[in-house]
Amino acid sequence: MSERISLLVTVKAYPAISQKYGEVVCVAGIRTDTPDPEWARLFPVPYRDMPFAQRFKKYQVISLEARKHSGDKRPETYRPTVATLTVGEFLDTKNAWAKRRAFVEPLVVESMCEIRRRQQMDGTSLGAFRPAEVLDFVIDKNVEEWDDSKAGIAAQPSLFFPTKDGLERIPFRFRYRYRCSTPGCREHTQSMIDWELAQSWRKWRELYDETTLLENLRKRFLETMCGPGKDTIFFVGNQHRRPTTFLVLGVFWPPAAR
Ligand SMILES: [Zn+2]
Repeated sequence: MSERISLLVTVKAYPAISQKYGEVVCVAGIRTDTPDPEWARLFPVPYRDMPFAQRFKKYQVISLEARKHSGDKRPETYRPTVATLTVGEFLDTKNAWAKRRAFVEPLVVESMCEIRRRQQMDGTSLGAFRPAEVLDFVIDKNVEEWDDSKAGIAAQPSLFFPTKDGLERIPFRFRYRYRCSTPGCREHTQSMIDWELAQSWRKWRELYDETTLLENLRKRFLETMCGPGKDTIFFVGNQHRRPTTFLVLGVFWPPAAR
């Protein structure tokens, strides 16, 4: 059954290639129309094929018709009816991200290890927590090549936007290595897939040589976003086909309270 839902978008990943759906984006956020905030994932979202007026940003509230997804058993997943999507208020970062924090804070759980435990128990597939200690932002070569079929989908012009650029394969893999706050945690190393990260890479490569580019990415995503002056929260989610594999979908990094 389809229902109209509203959510604050907190996660927008770099587009991926799906054999079934073509180019899709993992979008997740927090329901603003439920008595208490709760997670919702939208899949599939053909973001770059959507009209510009519908192309929401992170921390914008959107409203759309959606229904539970029959092919994706993760409890938070909805299949959106994209044509019904409307874009609403953008929540700014004033007052230490207070407007955003009002939705995020109630969903913060103790740790990544706790989210894994819940995944085993009830299929939880999205979560937010404060990492105890972020140890590294590891950048290495992305060895996963696209096969011809994926490369073909990536290069396809859009039905509505014939001039759309093909999707670019990012030749690096970015991973956070951290310890969570569960006693005895043996560290987590998880890929970071935020679209903002890929965009920084694409933009900065025009400005810097490769070594400087990677250093600057590390500075921003490790030292700035996870530095001592920030109240860093990780948004994580798992993969449909590999439910025990969680990825960092985005970082919430308001200034720490003084
Ligand atoms: Zn842990």
